[in-house]
Amino acid sequence: MRKVLFLVLAALLATTSLQAQPAVPEFAPLPYAFDALEPYIDTQTMEIHYSRHHRAYYDNMLKAASGSAFLERGLQEALTEIASWPEALRNNAGGHFNHDLFWRVMAPRAGGEPQGKLAEKINTAFESFEKFKEEFKKAALGRFGSGWAWLCVDTDGGLFITSTANQDNPLMNVGNRKGIPILGLDVWEHAYYLKYQNQRGGYIDAFWNVVNWPEVTLRLERALAAN
Ligand code: MN
Repeated sequence: MRKVLFLVLAALLATTSLQAQPAVPEFAPLPYAFDALEPYIDTQTMEIHYSRHHRAYYDNMLKAASGSAFLERGLQEALTEIASWPEALRNNAGGHFNHDLFWRVMAPRAGGEPQGKLAEKINTAFESFEKFKEEFKKAALGRFGSGWAWLCVDTDGGLFITSTANQDNPLMNVGNRKGIPILGLDVWEHAYYLKYQNQRGGYIDAFWNVVNWPEVTLRLERALAAN
């Protein structure tokens, strides 16, 4: 019994001391197999996108951050002050954060419609889920060149849609409308070209079949708690 208690205490202490350490973000495993989002996102795109594109952003972020205090207060916090850091951090820390969010807001056997508080907030901001999807698609299609479309929480707890260029995101203090992103769609050609070629609209329509609404709801709740 005493031994068990000791082990429990030791485990608790280990967890606490891990949390107290500076947060070097991890290159987290993809939460599903490369082929799990077929037919909406093809296996080869997933594999290249995660293993090569995302990996490169992650590695280059660590390289660019090394020897600096950039990651000391956590990545999300660092991104809010990105304008005072070198361009390589804006591109690569942005790239890491954005892709990490992107993988997690998708899931196999997902899609459908959001529920509960998220559904209410979507209806308040955009009138209906259908109108929300239209506006999101417009933002994603309207992003010329490479970038992202986002659903964000503003400081009043309301939702808005925006898009950013390159690997910028709405956390960054670089002149975007600022907010906490809870859903993001990568509209770089590398995200869809193999399957959809120049048909970005087809890729955007397919995305709704893999959106992990329970995860987006969790992110909404975290954002509201942080506001
Ligand atoms: Mn990408």
